[in-house]
Amino acid sequence: MILVLKMKDIIDEKDSRLKQTSKEVTFPLTKADKEMIEKMIQFLKNSQIPEIAEKYELRPGMGLSAVQVGILKRYFVVVNDISDDEDGEPEFETYVLINPRMISNSQEKIYVGEGEGCLSVNRPVCGIVPRYARVTFEGYDLEGRKIQIRAREELAICFQHELDHLNGILFTDHIDPKNPYKDKDSMRSI
Ligand code: ZN
Repeated sequence: MILVLKMKDIIDEKDSRLKQTSKEVTFPLTKADKEMIEKMIQFLKNSQIPEIAEKYELRPGMGLSAVQVGILKRYFVVVNDISDDEDGEPEFETYVLINPRMISNSQEKIYVGEGEGCLSVNRPVCGIVPRYARVTFEGYDLEGRKIQIRAREELAICFQHELDHLNGILFTDHIDPKNPYKDKDSMRSI
């Protein structure tokens, strides 16, 4: 097992780079970017395997954007746990999206009932973040081929959260501190 990134490699919300807009990536990708993408995927997988996460003190995460490791380029990775509980073997679905755009979304909005989280936000945050329940993203894969991904529910939230990072937006920016549960009843909790 390669453990390549640690929590300390992920920048915190106090770091102003997280407020900046990341730049479009040109193809072919540099070797450094390809390696970083591998590291980010491995980090997220490790973070979702309890024994490894505990040993290396990793906070579980589903998505990670380049800016969170200090690289202001428009790409993110998402690792979705699709393990079936029967055999106990961890199984993941991995997404890499470069220069992503959200090309369509549902009318319906949802939010994470227990509150959204972020590997760059190291404090408890109350409030709800409205997200589209279903989205279609377009972007490029590692080889520069155009791809489309449809996502719903938790995965859709994750994609929207990561796209925000590339635009310098944190989930906390969506929460009105004076009214953190605003419009709650017009949305579905997941
Ligand atoms: Zn985040």
